Amino acid sequence: MTEQTRKYHFGFLDEDAKKEIRRSLLKAIAIPGYQVPYSSREMPIARGFGTGGLQITLSILGTDDTFKVIDQGSDESVNAVNIRKFISKTCPGVSLTKHTLTATVIQTRHRIPEFLLKLGQILVLQVPYPDPLVMVEASEAKRKQMHGEGDYARLWVKLYEDIVQFSEITISHRYPCQINGAYVIDPSPIPRFDVAKLHQSEGLYLFGAGREKKIYAVPPYTKAKPLAFTDVPFRIEDFIDQTGQRRPCNRCGSNNSFLDEFIDDVGRKVYQCSDSDYCNMQLLTSLLENREQGKGNRE
Ligand SMILES: [Zn+2]
Repeated sequence: MTEQTRKYHFGFLDEDAKKEIRRSLLKAIAIPGYQVPYSSREMPIARGFGTGGLQITLSILGTDDTFKVIDQGSDESVNAVNIRKFISKTCPGVSLTKHTLTATVIQTRHRIPEFLLKLGQILVLQVPYPDPLVMVEASEAKRKQMHGEGDYARLWVKLYEDIVQFSEITISHRYPCQINGAYVIDPSPIPRFDVAKLHQSEGLYLFGAGREKKIYAVPPYTKAKPLAFTDVPFRIEDFIDQTGQRRPCNRCGSNNSFLDEFIDDVGRKVYQCSDSDYCNMQLLTSLLENREQGKGNRE
């Protein structure tokens, strides 16, 4: 079949598959944090590359949507570029964007964008392991019962053992969070820095685990509390240097974003915003401000 004659069904999945996923999404939204089982479909990408997130995205996208996809905060990484191409082929009419503020649906892996979600925006997270209890219990049947009974004692013991051994909780990603005072979720491998963005957000968070066949959600204006002890509070990455100063982004100068660390050509450690759209916008804003200032000085 040539490129010209190849036709995809809108959203790639057939209508029955999309209907089932939408029903699972509605259930997930109605019971915040509950892992809804669904029959995850085969996708034209390997499991582990975001099949769960992609199935949610394909089920909810309509022609009036504007779609953005990021991987580790970047619109230009291989996974993000390929998913964007796939959406452009299978969802004709859907607008594509790289700007968080104009997107209605954002699919992501490993980050929540720096710009806070607004009412009406949906963030779809790709999830490798949906169940935080997998750290302490191997049997899925037992984990289901523990969730049902709200029995998170063994998870608390694991956190306590961490404090005894290392003087702090060592979980850097996938930090367990209690949703609406009930179910504890794995918020996917986002850094601790992003966990607070789940709490009382205006936007809707949808989580899809394709290999594990689970969907769950954090609806707008819902409590999301990272598990922590009153005397050892939850701590996020602070990016403080040896002198006690908060490191700024090397490119845009922002000192309140999540930073990626890399080594430059001369072997120096460099820090830069992980969210590429946020970094570009900050840079643009400061350029415009400088231009306005320049104008003012000349007048
Ligand atoms: Zn930056």
